[in-house]
Order: sequence, then C-alpha cells, then structure tokens
Amino acid sequence: MKFFFCIALPFLVVLAVGGTSSILDMTPPISGLALTDLRDTFEEIHNGHRHEAMDIIEPKGTPVHAVVPGTIRKLFLSKPGGNTIYEFDEKGEYCYYYAHLERYADGLHEGMSVQRGDVIGFVGSTGNAVARTPHLHFTIFELGPERQWWKGKAVDPYPGLVAAVKRAR
Ligand SMILES: [Zn+2]
Repeated sequence: MKFFFCIALPFLVVLAVGGTSSILDMTPPISGLALTDLRDTFEEIHNGHRHEAMDIIEPKGTPVHAVVPGTIRKLFLSKPGGNTIYEFDEKGEYCYYYAHLERYADGLHEGMSVQRGDVIGFVGSTGNAVARTPHLHFTIFELGPERQWWKGKAVDPYPGLVAAVKRAR
C-alpha cells in the first residue's frame, strides 16, 4: 500500500492540474524566494471579495520575473490592480497575472514573447495596495476556449509556487 502511494501520488497530482500544464514548470516570480515568504491567501476575503491570489511582500522596485515562457497578452491599468500584466503560457492554456506593479520593464509591450525568468516589471503598490506594504499580487487563470485575458477561472497558485521555490533552491 505504501508503495502504491509513493508511485501513484505524483501522477495523480499531475493529472489533477492538467497533464503537461505550465503550472508544473513555473519558476518563482521573485529571485531568492523562501518557502516562508509564501502564504496561501487564496480563500481570504480582501475588500469584500475572495482574494483568489497570493500576495508576496517585497520592497518597492524588486524585479518581477516571468514564471513561464509565453506572451505578454495585456498590459492593463486597473483601479484595484494598478499596473498589471496578463501573460499567457505558450499553449494559451493558463494566464499568469501580476498586479500592483510600480512599473513595467522598459520596452515591455503587448504581443511580446518572453522567456522564463525575464524581468517584466517591478514590485510596487499601485491600485488598491496599501502604500506602505508594496507587494506582488500574483495569480493564475485557467483560460477558456476563447482565450480571453479578462475571463478565466482562478487557480490557486500556492502549490505550484511552493514546488517552484523548492526546485529553485
Ligand atoms: Zn492580493
């Protein structure tokens, strides 16, 4: 029985998040992250809404890296999110969302291809973030067949980021 769990469990985990999902391939959005920097706040209620994301507290100006190779689909200034980036993975299956950025990396534009680890922006507190606690608000959306950047199903990024941080060490 023990043998079964050791062998079968990793496969079940892979199946649960969709086979060759890019989530399994993520690298951390911030260099040098430790597991203690990650807190699962997906289910928390923030400003009256389910948070459906993670907040990674970092000093203002800390570089933010693309977690997977893909395309910058949309750069959007929103009231709650401030300067935000919607990055699609190469298959257009998942959208990686980065918010409250102080600014974008120089030359970043919509339609641009990025490699894993490329600096795409810098941590800030734009939008509804509290000015004294700059942070990266990060989440993942599962895109529907229409692949609309504004319409996806939020996926808890916590397990994927924990795995990414462990691999990066
Ligand atoms: Zn947040």
